[in-house]
Amino acid sequence: LAARLQGLDKPTVWQEFSPLAVEHQAVNLGQGFPDWDPPLFVQQAMRNAIDPAQARHANQYARPNAHLPLATVLAEDYSSRWPQVDLNPATQVATAVGCTNVLYCTLQALVGVGDQVILLEPAFDIYASQVRMAGGTPVYVPLRPTGHVHEGASQAFSLDLNELEAAVTPNTKVLILNTPHNPTGKIFSRDELEGIAAIVQKHPQLTIISDEVYEHILFDPAHEPHISMATILFDQTLTLSSSGKTFSCTGWKVGWAVGPPHLVQAVVAVQQWVNFSAPTPNQDAIAQALVEARQPFQGYDSYYAYLADEYLRKRGILVEALEAAGMTPIVPPGGFFIMADTITAAMPTNPMPRDWALSRWLTKEVGVTAIPPSAFYSEENVPLAQNLLRFAFCKGDDTLREAQTRLATYF
Ligand code: PMP
Ligand code: GLN
Repeated sequence: LAARLQGLDKPTVWQEFSPLAVEHQAVNLGQGFPDWDPPLFVQQAMRNAIDPAQARHANQYARPNAHLPLATVLAEDYSSRWPQVDLNPATQVATAVGCTNVLYCTLQALVGVGDQVILLEPAFDIYASQVRMAGGTPVYVPLRPTGHVHEGASQAFSLDLNELEAAVTPNTKVLILNTPHNPTGKIFSRDELEGIAAIVQKHPQLTIISDEVYEHILFDPAHEPHISMATILFDQTLTLSSSGKTFSCTGWKVGWAVGPPHLVQAVVAVQQWVNFSAPTPNQDAIAQALVEARQPFQGYDSYYAYLADEYLRKRGILVEALEAAGMTPIVPPGGFFIMADTITAAMPTNPMPRDWALSRWLTKEVGVTAIPPSAFYSEENVPLAQNLLRFAFCKGDDTLREAQTRLATYF
């Protein structure tokens, strides 16, 4: 193996816990993917994409930048949500194979050997590995658990701006931000984003990659609105998102980057050599779905309002299940994961990190699978995760209730 893969060739947390759940017939609240099909209008859009009668001509290579119908609707959507921004679909939208692949292309474009990338921990596990594959070094700034963890309040994880500022060096090229956040569900407040922007502005070599894949899964938008960093610091921010969470089609892998032309073109410069272009039918289907999603849906003002309300109900079921099991769920304002304080969950001692051991034990003995959040921390900060577990609620109501029954029977 090439040196840059050193330490990266072991199985990921997903490869351990999804098969373990199957082996023990556990209710899998681990890996985050919906266990239902995409809505009918989204399914129909995929059929339309390849139907000759629809003449959408979506079977050949797309432009390396993006399939133009998708770039056009994304430019419209972001321009209507972001005041003072009018995105040009030809130069300010890039697509790739899911947000994962957009991030890969972006990091390959912006990060070289010896460069540093700041990650706010816990951080989605692909970030650190992709930084290393680009030759860069991850620099970790933890979101520190506050006293609110024990109250289950969403402001339980806080960013110390002084700590962030101290981590920036002349070699820092990228800061990866994720809001709404996986795994905590935290939504960064305007104050926090402005504080981050003030630091980044002092360093012109620095770009913020803002991963906003959970942008439409919001529970209390009046109180805790999702704010895109691009609306605060457009010129130094590349915003990433994808269709997987929004349309419950994680396997379709359509992701995008929007932002200033020089950053978008940097992504394209890599993408043209990595994939040349992302699959055209998938991009075309998402272009149609994004148009349809603006319309009233099942009694809601839009598909987005429906989606948020569905997840609100599911969040409620999982909160109840975790509380009944004596855990303290940290109720998230966005996304589809709950971090729970498991301090009260007794289990046999084990030499591994406690959260990892507890997760294996829960799968085998209780029949419920969660993800140990230490997978989202650097080695030095693994202790911050020891009393936490991440549970996904992007699952059918019956599945969530079955988890509740199993937890209640055991605890
Ligand atoms: N970013 C975050 C924060 C995620 O949770 C996920 C989930 N897979 C991704 C990126 C990847 O998105 P995609 O499936 O579009 O590659
Ligand atoms: N984003 C999802 C999660 O955090 C899935 C991760 C993956 O499959 N790489 O559970």
